[in-house]
Order: sequence, then structure tokens, then C-alpha cells
Amino acid sequence: MSLDNVRIVLVNTSHPGNIGSAARAMKTMGLSQLVLVEPKAFPAPEAVTLSSGATDILDNAVVCATLEEAVADCGLIIGASARVRGISLPLMEPGECAEKAVTEADNCSVALVFGREDRGLTNDELKLCHRQTHIPSNPEFSSLNLASAVQVLCYELRKANLKQQEASLVPECRTHDLASSEAMEHFYGHLQEVLADIEFFKHSNPDKIMAKLRRLYGRVRPDRVELNILRGILSEMQVAIGKQPAGGRKETQSV
Ligand code: SAH
Repeated sequence: MSLDNVRIVLVNTSHPGNIGSAARAMKTMGLSQLVLVEPKAFPAPEAVTLSSGATDILDNAVVCATLEEAVADCGLIIGASARVRGISLPLMEPGECAEKAVTEADNCSVALVFGREDRGLTNDELKLCHRQTHIPSNPEFSSLNLASAVQVLCYELRKANLKQQEASLVPECRTHDLASSEAMEHFYGHLQEVLADIEFFKHSNPDKIMAKLRRLYGRVRPDRVELNILRGILSEMQVAIGKQPAGGRKETQSV
């Protein structure tokens, strides 16, 4: 899914420069839907200047008279709050909030709502939200600049989105069954043998190198066919350095 179903809602923003900076923050993280509830000044030259070229987001921004209107079609509404005291809504930390937003955005529109520079969101506005999120800032100086708060949450959204995309890619990339643990052990044995043949361990401890290589291949988790290719490369290397007669390619295990 893309982040097109996630909108950033700024309520009653006083400084148009903050709107421009928020647009820039959004664009750097791949978000595009900006909704402004009763901005004090918009459109405005300061917004354009501080957007640093993210003017498409400003041009497409939707201006609404109320928060109700801004989130009317949303299935999940999350309010961003500089303070945690007196909060009655379920509170989510930003990473968790972003993961929830990205997951829900597959089925409905999601809004992240930011309050006024001087006094945040009103209680009535918070009542429209299903959840609240708080960036765990210094409790004695907890309020970020509006656009900075937008940047932090958009960054979390981007990370969550990339994670989701990566997770959905893994099964598609893998066309065959994963190599068995036994096959991996044969591979590690073969790899160590070849590395010894080429004197790769001359200046280093084989156990340490092998532990790192195991970690690397363990992360990748090759499938059967990929592992056979790796075994084939190792065998050909042994032939090339005269450690194994040509044609006597080491039997790749049935993996
Ligand atoms: N003085 C206001 C803070 C306003 S800052 C107050 O005390 O509520 C403007 C907006 O930026 C906030 O309404 C909130 O949406 C967002 N923001 C600022 N700091 C934040 C933080 N630590 N966590 C989450 N959102 C924050």
C-alpha cells in the first residue's frame, strides 16, 4: 500500500511558515495528503518559501472549516499531543501509531491530527480521535515545533510503510522452498573449505569469520536453488585454483 490513504491534518495553524515546513516534512517522507482546518493565513508566501519546493502538496491541500469535516470519511483518527497528562484516549507511542496507521490504511482513510502552535487540540477535537500519540520528549520541555512533530511522525509512517512493503516482497522473491538446515550446514562446511583453500584465514580466526558469514546467510535464508548456485560457485572456485579436478565438481547436496 502507499501512504496516499494517510492524511496530515493541521488544525487552526497560526504561522503559514509551519504549513510550508509541514508540507516539506511530508514530501520528504512520501506523504501527500494535507488538510488544513481553518488556517489563520493560507495560501501565503511564507508557506511556499518554507515548503522548499513541496508546493504540489500546498497546491493540493484541502481547506476545511472544522475538524469534523476534515476527518468525516476517516476510519482511524489519531491526535498528536505534546502533553500526556489528563489524556483519556488510548495512548500509542509514535512507532506503534505509524504501524497501526499503515495497516489500517489498506482498508480506510487515516488521519493524523496536529493542534495549534499555542494550545494544541481542544478537548472536543480530541473526542473525535480514536487514539492519541505522543513523541516521548523531555517532560520538562515537551512541545516540539508543529512542523518538527509532523516530521517525526511522518518519518515513523515511512519506516512502517517500508517495513510493510519489504514484508510483502519477501514471499514473492522466493520461488522455491527454503534450503534445509542440513543443506546450510553442508554449505558452511564447503565455504569454510574453500576459504581455507584460498588462504582467506591467513590473518584471521576462522571461527569468527564463519560466525559472521553464518549470520549473513542466516539473515538472507537462501532457497534451495539459490543455495545450489552458491555451492556451484564454490566448486568452480576449487577447480580454478586446482584444488579439485575439472569435471569432479563437488556433489551439491539434494537440498
Ligand atoms: N502548547 C501546545 C503545544 C502545541 S505544539 C500544547 O501544550 O499542547 C503544536 C502541535 O504539535 C501539538 O498540538 C501536537 O499536535 C504537535 N506536537 C508537539 N509536540 C509534540 C509531542 N511531543 N508529541 C506529539 N505531538 C506533538
